[in-house]
Amino acid sequence: AKKHKVCVVGSGNWGTTIAKVVAENVKENDELFEEEVQMWVYEEDYQVPKDSKHYDPGSALSTKPQKLTQLINRLHENVKYLPDIALPKNVVANPDIADAVKEATILIFNLPHQFIGRICDNLKGKVIPYARGISCIKGVAVSEKGCELFSDSIGSKLGIYCGALSGANIANEVALEKWSETTIAYDPPPMDSRQPTPAGTPSDSPRGSSANLAELSTELSGGQLSTAKGTKSKGVALPAEYPPLNHINMRKLFHRPYFHVHMVHDVAGVSLGGALKNIVAIAAGWVDGLGWGDNAKAAVERLGILEEVKFGKTFFSKTCRTETFTEESCGVADMITSCSGGRNFRCAKMSVKEGKSIGEIEERELNGQKLQGASTAYEVNSFLKTQGMEQEFPLFTAVYSILEGTNKPEDIPQLVER
Ligand code: NAD
Ligand code: 13P
Repeated sequence: AKKHKVCVVGSGNWGTTIAKVVAENVKENDELFEEEVQMWVYEEDYQVPKDSKHYDPGSALSTKPQKLTQLINRLHENVKYLPDIALPKNVVANPDIADAVKEATILIFNLPHQFIGRICDNLKGKVIPYARGISCIKGVAVSEKGCELFSDSIGSKLGIYCGALSGANIANEVALEKWSETTIAYDPPPMDSRQPTPAGTPSDSPRGSSANLAELSTELSGGQLSTAKGTKSKGVALPAEYPPLNHINMRKLFHRPYFHVHMVHDVAGVSLGGALKNIVAIAAGWVDGLGWGDNAKAAVERLGILEEVKFGKTFFSKTCRTETFTEESCGVADMITSCSGGRNFRCAKMSVKEGKSIGEIEERELNGQKLQGASTAYEVNSFLKTQGMEQEFPLFTAVYSILEGTNKPEDIPQLVER
């Protein structure tokens, strides 16, 4: 029997953390997964800073800039994007994307959303057709086609099925193994939901009748039938020699004692919760930066959840569930954590206090990490404009008009007044 090979596409603050999580899990589930986890790195030269524990004035590794992939593979640490966190040795940094995804049956997309379009263009024809994807990207893809989920745009560009992972998951806390929850929306093609059986038994050969598959899907996914609805691509059937990629096995790849996974089917809700809260976190940072206190921040969060639900129910009505926003980690919990300690929140707060743009603060504070909130506010606004619905989403629209300079953070109460 074959095992699944995992590749993490992306190696920033969250990408590296997820690589650590899955690298720990593949070792513990070696009947399902290959031990090595490939991590594609956008290559750059990096100078180890003098205050790093890895800085050694006697070593060339420290005295001049080095390739980031070489540093990661030598030190087993992503010194730039996730410093001071030891990575399992089975994480292998690879600057060559085609080589990193070669033979991978599970692709985890985890990079700032502005880069994924180009990466997918580079990946076309290079991933195996029966690979399955999980998008950890928080953002939406707005184009002339409308507003698309990254799980869908990745899926349709690469011709594979792609689900989504999102939750209240500040990367540094997860990397330090502090407990958190996350939500994975995986609505795999019914053909993936074979029950694990010993190799060679008749039921291990491809796919029973559709009735049997329906029973299996129901059993494996807690009573809700997998239909792959709402996804653009269902991909190609996984060859029978691989373990099935159902909810049970997918959960084994991500669930850790410190990282609790809840599997659901609502890919749109999970993706939108992660994307839209970034707009709200900017507003929360502004009101906090103005010194308006916790009540103002809570008002912004409440409105943010309402607009998330409305956005999902209006534009992704076939599949989006209100409960995903109100009950899951990817909804209300991510709203709370992002509006407390997230980067968008922190940078927006500093921008008000210092009278500087969010971009300037991002450049100064984040050492190459990328904020998603401002660009998402622009993208969502351009989509709402095409729908003639800016006024139906007063908070999202307020954030956009403040970023544009048409309004000030002080105007938020008036802009969202009912
Ligand atoms: P990050 O903010 O650390 O961004 C840096 C990454 O961008 C690096 O890997 C860098 O190599 C890459 N990069 C820079 N220029 C590039 C280019 N031109 N092409 C390709 N890559 C380039 O990234 P992150 O924190 O890993 O975020 C990835 C996704 O995860 C985002 O959608 C984010 O919203 C989401 N997320 C982040 C966190 C967090 O706490 N960091 C938590 C949950 C989800
Ligand atoms: P930031 O990108 O604002 O840091 O948000 C992190 C996050 O998504 C926490 O769940």
